[in-house]
Amino acid sequence: MDSKEKQQTSLDKKIDVIIIGAGASGLMCAIEAGKRQRKVLVVDHAKEPGKKILMSGGGRCNFTNYSVSHENYISNNPHFCKSALSRYNSYDFLDLINKYDISFSEREHEQLFCDGSAREILDMLLAECKKAGVTFQMDTTIEKVEQLAEHNFRLCSSRGNYTCHSLVVATGGLSIPTSGASPLGYKIAEQFNIKVWPQSPGLVPFTLQPKDKEQLATLSGIAVDAVVSNRRRSFRENILFTHRGLSGPAILQMSSYWQPGEELTINLLPDIDLVEVLKEQQQQRPLRTVKSVVAEYLPKRLVKTMVQTNFADSSLKTILPKEFVEISEQLQQWTIKPNATEGYRTAEVTLGGVDCDAISSKTMESNKIPGLFFTGEVLDVSGWLGGYNLQWAWSSGWCAGQYV
Ligand SMILES: Cc1cc2nc3c(=O)[nH]c(=O)nc-3n(C[C@H](O)[C@H](O)[C@H](O)COP(=O)(O)OP(=O)(O)OC[C@H]3O[C@@H](n4cnc5c(N)ncnc54)[C@H](O)[C@@H]3O)c2cc1C
Repeated sequence: MDSKEKQQTSLDKKIDVIIIGAGASGLMCAIEAGKRQRKVLVVDHAKEPGKKILMSGGGRCNFTNYSVSHENYISNNPHFCKSALSRYNSYDFLDLINKYDISFSEREHEQLFCDGSAREILDMLLAECKKAGVTFQMDTTIEKVEQLAEHNFRLCSSRGNYTCHSLVVATGGLSIPTSGASPLGYKIAEQFNIKVWPQSPGLVPFTLQPKDKEQLATLSGIAVDAVVSNRRRSFRENILFTHRGLSGPAILQMSSYWQPGEELTINLLPDIDLVEVLKEQQQQRPLRTVKSVVAEYLPKRLVKTMVQTNFADSSLKTILPKEFVEISEQLQQWTIKPNATEGYRTAEVTLGGVDCDAISSKTMESNKIPGLFFTGEVLDVSGWLGGYNLQWAWSSGWCAGQYV
């Protein structure tokens, strides 16, 4: 360092821990580090902290899940998340929620949501930050991050320069650009020669090929329980027909496992053997039409669009067994090739990110650069729908907070 640089850094404000990103994992890390008497500054370019927490769960924040395992996450290192998820688990976060008397309910698939609003979760985290003496500098552009020596980082920002002993990158993923999402975290990793896996949007609706879009246009708003599969995965939850394409929980889950160009198979009647049902009805009520039988199980509009055979309106007595199989295939093995996903504009999560092999699973610290930490969604850990992404943010942020 030359004398001019030395002079400059002597003017820098000195902080123990700087956390870039006032989101879920940055706030959790700040609370824990503050409790350890570390002087903590959280820097963010957004005007207010926790924007994605406020958006989460449709405003009700699906803050965790009773059943969390590494199998609910996608990563090039599937074992990486195990340690953090077991050291700070969903019951630990529930202890905090209970301390603040936040009422919550369990929904399907053991998902936990606030009864009131996501604002209660954010207010709780901010109250904990206040108690732990954490300071914030919002609305701040980060211009440069550099390493001066081991455990000595310099952060140059639009509101002044700082040096710190530990630097935590908690900048999240790329989804919802209007929420303040940026690639800064990936750029910092690359600056320190840490591998970053390519990113893509996850938990995101599909758009359709023009032909399918036209055919399914009238179904907008219909939701049905279905099994959506590709060669590797299968999810059973609702699917929702939208004016742009396909959405709903089963579709969002599958989007995180989808490769462009790949076909999906959808079973719209997962609980019955349709061929058997039609055969039985043929015996019992031979004058009924195929459509009227199927409409007992699915919305009429959907049946009209999906049962596209010239015998759909024929009475059962005229139909051959092989034609029953054809009808069943249309509804129970419906194949569709999405055009694309809706992209980061509506994605809930970003797949890919900072390579977990370069990070300690216990501390979230870089293996190569002591004092540099990565937490939350910026890492190559993406959860399923159901509170898993926030739990990862809490768990990874908590772990880093014990060591920064
Ligand atoms: C619409 C929506 C709904 C969701 N619902 C749920 C849900 O119900 N349950 C669930 O588990 N998960 C949900 N998620 C996912 C979850 O919100 C995220 O996975 C989680 O917030 C990630 O936490 P994080 O701290 O890593 O990043 P974030 O919470 O995204 O925080 C990152 C912070 O870094 C700041 N930042 C970024 N770039 C810069 C920069 N260049 N300079 C300074 N600051 C920067 C951002 O402003 C932000 O404050 C949802 C996501 C979305 C988009």
